[in-house]
Amino acid sequence: AGIVFAADRNFSTAIQARDANGIITAISNHDISFEKNLIMVAGPDGRLLADTQQQTSQGQPFPFPHLIDAARRSGRASAVVIINGQPYHLVVIPVSAPTPIAWVAKGYRLDDSLARDTEELASLQLSFLTEADENNWTVSGSTLPPAARDSLPTRIADILRAQVKDAPILLASEDYQTRAVTLNSVGDSRVIAVWQRSLEYTLDPFMQLQKTLLDLAIASVFASLFGGIVVSRRLAQPITRLARTARVTRSGDYSQKADITQQDEIGEIAAGFNHLRDAVSAREQKILRLAYQDTLTSLPNRALFHDRLDLALKAAERDQKPMSVLTMGIDRFRQINDTLGHPVGDRVLLAVGERLLLLLRKSDTVARLGGDEFAVILPKGDVEHACEVAGKILSAHDTPITIDGHTLDVRFSIGIASYPEHGTDPYHLLRNADIAMYVAKRGKRGYSVFEPDATQPHQDYLTLLGDLKRAVEQDELVLYYQPKVDLKSGTTTQAEALVRWVHPQRGLVPPLQFIPFAEQTGYIRTMTRWIIRRAIRQCEIWQAQGINITISVNICASDLLDPGLIEMIATELKQRGVDARWLSMEITENGVMEDPAKSLETLRQLDQLGIELAIDDYGTGYSSLSYVKKLPVSELKIDQSFVRDMTTDADDAMIVKSTIDLGHNMGLRVIAEGVEDLAIWALLRQMGCDGAQGYCMSKPLPAEQFEQWLRANPVFGDPTIPPARLASHSASGSASPASSPQRKGDRRRTRG
Ligand code: C2E
Ligand code: MG
Ligand code: MG
Repeated sequence: AGIVFAADRNFSTAIQARDANGIITAISNHDISFEKNLIMVAGPDGRLLADTQQQTSQGQPFPFPHLIDAARRSGRASAVVIINGQPYHLVVIPVSAPTPIAWVAKGYRLDDSLARDTEELASLQLSFLTEADENNWTVSGSTLPPAARDSLPTRIADILRAQVKDAPILLASEDYQTRAVTLNSVGDSRVIAVWQRSLEYTLDPFMQLQKTLLDLAIASVFASLFGGIVVSRRLAQPITRLARTARVTRSGDYSQKADITQQDEIGEIAAGFNHLRDAVSAREQKILRLAYQDTLTSLPNRALFHDRLDLALKAAERDQKPMSVLTMGIDRFRQINDTLGHPVGDRVLLAVGERLLLLLRKSDTVARLGGDEFAVILPKGDVEHACEVAGKILSAHDTPITIDGHTLDVRFSIGIASYPEHGTDPYHLLRNADIAMYVAKRGKRGYSVFEPDATQPHQDYLTLLGDLKRAVEQDELVLYYQPKVDLKSGTTTQAEALVRWVHPQRGLVPPLQFIPFAEQTGYIRTMTRWIIRRAIRQCEIWQAQGINITISVNICASDLLDPGLIEMIATELKQRGVDARWLSMEITENGVMEDPAKSLETLRQLDQLGIELAIDDYGTGYSSLSYVKKLPVSELKIDQSFVRDMTTDADDAMIVKSTIDLGHNMGLRVIAEGVEDLAIWALLRQMGCDGAQGYCMSKPLPAEQFEQWLRANPVFGDPTIPPARLASHSASGSASPASSPQRKGDRRRTRG
């Protein structure tokens, strides 16, 4: 194209005369589609000769000298840049006669019509956003409906994070799956392209499929956007033959060359086209690579992980050898993100990725599946080997990660599933590893191997779901009650209801073996309703007998999103004539974070009903006390993992003590779980804790045995002994406070 210009006498004359108007007129003769786009022409010295945007800029340096340098090296250069606050795709070419006499820069504005061009290629919405100054973004072009388009800039933080979180973004009452790509690499102000697909909520596996489709669509659109700008605008219409080749190329077939050999402008264009074709092909290679790589850690992403898992499974099947999958999540990762910011969170993920790579063999695959979720394929590992690897990963993380002076104790929960015993296809293996991870997380066990008969009696998901349904329908569930004892008076005014499944074949099944599964399948809502009904009935019975005990029921994240829950509770309370103060609820802190707005609304409604709320397992989730403060809760239950060893572990004791103090400062009642002996009881009393729950007082008991316990223990312990005396007495009996990360690691790593 440069030669085309050079051959134009008007153009050369205007260049020599440094006549800005003449230059622009000459160029517009060549290319009529430039009215709304921009052209700049610079002399060999890199100073501007003409500029369609600013008539007065003659003699100023060309604002993007690196593009001239790049064009000098490779014949052309392009980049996305910001000019007068607007984003442009700027292409710089030399005008050679035969040495460069000028540089022509053409800018295509990233506007609505460009966005529309690409919309046809995939049913995706595309928008261009430009950062004018920090945190001030404007939309220069978009295919979104006006309301959604207007709300884009307000969601910019989520959009930039969309890559990591994969959570849909709500714009003007519609959810969009979102990917953002930064288009420019120079300057402080960013230009990003945002691809979005409107999302209707479907089941998880479909979401996954959609995500993969979205990624693939973006890869192709990315190629055609840049291919498209140059291809369609520079060359298309007049040369049908070339256009046909261009179409083939655009559809991803790079084998066809533009076979035009004539020595004129068209020949020049054809050569340029071939050059472009190679560039696009190279770029597509890169995009394909990116489509299989996690952008943050450069580890394989979910798509590639699935491919490799497929291959590994086929190989294992062929060789009749076992293989294993580990999935792992970072405990309390949300807390790191929320308290220290996403940049720190990102660096934790990076550091974790590096550590994992160091720990594993070359033949193993380490992938980041999204968020804080990592996964490993051990192509030749049986369960035992997988456990060894899990142990290695856990102990490697006994050493904290230091970032910007923050020392972060990064802990994993790992789930293991092995071929063939836990699944013979990728879907089941991964799902079962996930279930095992969930069990590890809930039980704070470090790692856990999938237990087929625990959650899957007949290797069949539907059977277990059927079993659970039957359990509810045929009343195979029972509630056990565990006292929550007041530490000052020794009296019991509350009991926690803990569900048990009396399975016809398997006997008494503990909740951790079916609650996680019920949560996963969504069946938990039905179960929770059953549990609440049963608890209210127990309230009615106890009230009638003059036993004034408040029953606290455990509810989970998805219960808080159950739209009919409040209504059901209110009706049930009324029908049974039970005052709401005899019912209370425990929510694990991460439960609230799932859909904060909706969950908070439910919590408020429960609060308004007069039901007291407690945060359960405090300290194991993601939230900070300042977050808890915003919730309508009145009680904090310190997780048993801190309480259990507090008489021997100085760190744990300190955590418990400061949680009590902070809780009190916020007007909350603080209860300790896992009080297993009198020494803990005494220390908690001395620390000013309000309540205690644990085997020391009583294990969870069926209602009648609970009543007996209550009659036998109207006052637990001896409240006349002042807390200080008790503590000094018990301190002499306890082991010396020893605390090392190693020990903590051990505690977490007992397999169940
Ligand atoms: P959670 O709500 O934190 O309940 C306390 C768990 O700690 C209970 O286990 C209880 O038996 C156990 N525990 C109590 N005192 C001690 C102690 O001194 N030492 C030790 N080592 N453990 C103690 P359980 O009954 O197995 O329940 C486990 C978890 O399952 C519960 O943790 C809760 O998250 C869930 N769960 C139990 N029942 C229900 C329910 O009805 N609905 C829901 N959604 N979840 C439930
Ligand atoms: Mg609880
Ligand atoms: Mg708890």
